[in-house]
Amino acid sequence: SIPLGYFGGIGAASRLGILFKGGNYLDAITKINTVVFDKTGTLTKGTFEVQECKPVSGIAKEELIRLIASVERNSTHPIAKAIVEYAKQQNVELVSTSDTREFAGFGLEATVDGNTVLVGNSRLLSKFNIAYPAELLKITDTVVVCAIGTNYAGYLLLADTLKDDAKTAIDKLKALKVKNIQILSGDKQSIVTNFAEKLGISKAYGDLLPEGKVRHLEELRQDEANQIAFVGDGMNDAPVLALSHVGIAMGGLGSDAAIETADVVIQTDQPSKVAEAIKVGKLTRRIIW
Ligand code: ADP
Ligand code: MG
Repeated sequence: SIPLGYFGGIGAASRLGILFKGGNYLDAITKINTVVFDKTGTLTKGTFEVQECKPVSGIAKEELIRLIASVERNSTHPIAKAIVEYAKQQNVELVSTSDTREFAGFGLEATVDGNTVLVGNSRLLSKFNIAYPAELLKITDTVVVCAIGTNYAGYLLLADTLKDDAKTAIDKLKALKVKNIQILSGDKQSIVTNFAEKLGISKAYGDLLPEGKVRHLEELRQDEANQIAFVGDGMNDAPVLALSHVGIAMGGLGSDAAIETADVVIQTDQPSKVAEAIKVGKLTRRIIW
């Protein structure tokens, strides 16, 4: 049977917008010494804004936006939502697509007007052996590239920003003596390092596919001294949430799969609630023991 104190703790947490799925996690969270954050939608707003549209010559800007947004309409990724929203703002009408396939950590493939269209990162084009300008790799913002058939067709440039609460989130964890704070991301290393530096996080791992994130967590778990909390917004995060000692989903933008898999759900979009959750756990423990 669960001691009464746990119910008190769960109630106190829920009033802060933190849902513990069981008293055992209230206990487990007090032992956390390693907090691993997903980047997009967790530490950053994940509400990208399209900054630029750069089609190859022979394709109009509006055409490229139409094509990319029509394909992205099939995805729930934060990048996809931003592009569809942008097309709407620009009054660009979308076209129908078929045979859509999404590749986690890469982007999508779809058929549009009889052509196979790829929309995603440069890794996606490489996967399909499609050449693209090397300059794309030097850009330190998020780039969404497009190919029609086997031809590179251009790209959209997007920017994401840190949540107002992100720095507080890290500072509060440091104050609680959480010594190992990391960021994992499928985004480019240059982008991930840039955000990590702003937050005072020295361990930033970018260019990771979903399997790469899983491998990273498995490696961390090899050392039993590491008590790990993974914090993610959901998109492609369910496997890593399951591998951590305490899986924490940000419910604000979070996907259903993540909310299901998580042990703790933060119902606001504030990553600083992670430190609050640890604090509630510690207080509950003091009441019980
Ligand atoms: P993160 O770890 O930053 O949350 P994800 O694993 O969700 O990232 O995605 C990694 C990368 O894959 C993104 O930065 C983006 O380049 C690409 N990507 C994934 N899904 C899409 C999509 N629907 N449209 C465009 N690019 C995508
Ligand atoms: Mg993500």
